[in-house]
Amino acid sequence: MDQNIVRGWIVRCKTCGTLWVLEVSFDLRNTKEVYHYCKICKKNTFHEILGRTEGWSK
Ligand SMILES: [Zn+2]
Repeated sequence: MDQNIVRGWIVRCKTCGTLWVLEVSFDLRNTKEVYHYCKICKKNTFHEILGRTEGWSK
């Protein structure tokens, strides 16, 4: 039924401001930011973690 629902975390690149979903199962609730590759910046940047994606669809 819910095949379109993405499990993960909504993150925002602090460099370019793009919102995207980091599809990981580990808990980032107590984490404020994560250093990860940004497809737009084409390099590793800091990302703000905005919350879980439950209820979000692609
Ligand atoms: Zn970026």
